[in-house]
Amino acid sequence: MTIDSQDIWSKCLGNIKSKIGEQGFDTWFKPIKPIKLDGKVLTIQVPSQFFYEYLEEHYVHLLRNVLNEELGNDYKLEYSVVVDKGNEFNKPYIVNLPNNGKAYSKGNGHSIAYTNPFDLQTIDRERQNSNLNVHYTFDNFIEGDCNRLARSAGVAVAQKPGVTSFNPLMLYGGVGLGKTHLVQAIGNEIKKINEKFVLYVSSEKFTNQFFEAIKNNNIQEFSNFYLQVDVLILDDVQFFEGKEKTQEIFFHIFNHLHQNGKQIIMTSDRPPRDLVGLMERLVSRFKWGLTADLQQPDYETRMAIIQRKMQADGINIPENVIEYLAYSIDTNVRDLEGVLISLIANASLIKKEVDLELARETLKNIVHDIDSEVGIDYIQKTISEYFKIPVDQLKDKTRKKEIVIARQIAMYFAKDYTNHSLKTIGDHFGGRDHSTVIHAVQAISDFCDTDPSFKKTVEDIRKKLKLKNV
Ligand code: ADP
Ligand code: MG
Repeated sequence: MTIDSQDIWSKCLGNIKSKIGEQGFDTWFKPIKPIKLDGKVLTIQVPSQFFYEYLEEHYVHLLRNVLNEELGNDYKLEYSVVVDKGNEFNKPYIVNLPNNGKAYSKGNGHSIAYTNPFDLQTIDRERQNSNLNVHYTFDNFIEGDCNRLARSAGVAVAQKPGVTSFNPLMLYGGVGLGKTHLVQAIGNEIKKINEKFVLYVSSEKFTNQFFEAIKNNNIQEFSNFYLQVDVLILDDVQFFEGKEKTQEIFFHIFNHLHQNGKQIIMTSDRPPRDLVGLMERLVSRFKWGLTADLQQPDYETRMAIIQRKMQADGINIPENVIEYLAYSIDTNVRDLEGVLISLIANASLIKKEVDLELARETLKNIVHDIDSEVGIDYIQKTISEYFKIPVDQLKDKTRKKEIVIARQIAMYFAKDYTNHSLKTIGDHFGGRDHSTVIHAVQAISDFCDTDPSFKKTVEDIRKKLKLKNV
């Protein structure tokens, strides 16, 4: 009697079914096809590399036992993996992908229409919109020292997704520093250039979808859906911490996509090594490609961001206000944007131009823990107002006594209140050299020591400057 692979596999299936849960059986064993029984080797066909790995990792003992029971100890199992042919939309890996929604009934007896979120129509729709916000582009992502590496890696990935060694690309940094903007810019750029299936998903949404899939018994559709993606953008992966099942499924999706040259892009609020609630093997994969951080924007970048945002909104705000804001809000870009929005709203509400006073007022009302550092321009402006002399005269060569004194006081405060070097301070005062600044600082503190009324003047100005401290 010859043993047919079909028969023997049916027996194996019956045996497996009695040993594992229905869901595991449906997901991982139903899609398998027996190919042949050649001598002592049974070959089965699995729909993907991912499938094969999953079986090997989770069901290897079960398969061994079942094979022993049905065939005998000396039989071997071989897998034939259906190779992915470019993952074209019409030729998915999918085995038994249901076409449409199905109905299921809940305990109360009412039948509820349930739409499978991973059916073909959904896939088609997701393929179209990719969950990307078209406003997040490279063009409006201001480059600075704080984000240069992350941004240029992003550009490289956008040009050649899956091809560079930046796979996965992992961007991390605190809240409001531009992670989401940057990864979406990558996605938008890729879609501009080619036809790839780009998908942006927050880790929270991924987790919820996965839980739904478990509940509704369509884990297979869930994974098959993600296996078709060419560029997977997973935002805020720290959300996976402590969620083992979700990590597990993502691990396999990750492996599969990576092996097939698909691009994976992730963000996290901290470096991979600090993601303590994640499986070690997942974290180690995160480090395969490139990890780059986004830091708090430096002063120049903040200036550029404000200018750019104002320009985009067609709003003019004076240079000194921009400088003042850039100095005052150094936490993150989101805070900066928040202040700008309030400022513009205030200005239109009271029908007033945006000026320093309004900026100060606005800031006072919304930000309480800002850095108190003031800028040189701001100091110069305050002093020119105090002495009623034009700012220009602080910078030019005028040697009139009262101008010289005002200029020296401004230099004194610039040294006191900013972190600028003596040279930079000198540059702000008409290109004077550092020894002039040293001399000014010394002269003012000497005057203060010897002349109480002079000291009072200086303290008065200090108070005005400190008004900024809200
Ligand atoms: P994260 O995801 O890191 O919390 P987001 O990407 O949501 O931060 O950024 C917060 C806001 O700041 C967004 O509106 C974004 O457009 C803006 N933003 C962040 N970085 C920059 C940048 N370098 N240039 C322009 N806008 C930026
Ligand atoms: Mg974000």
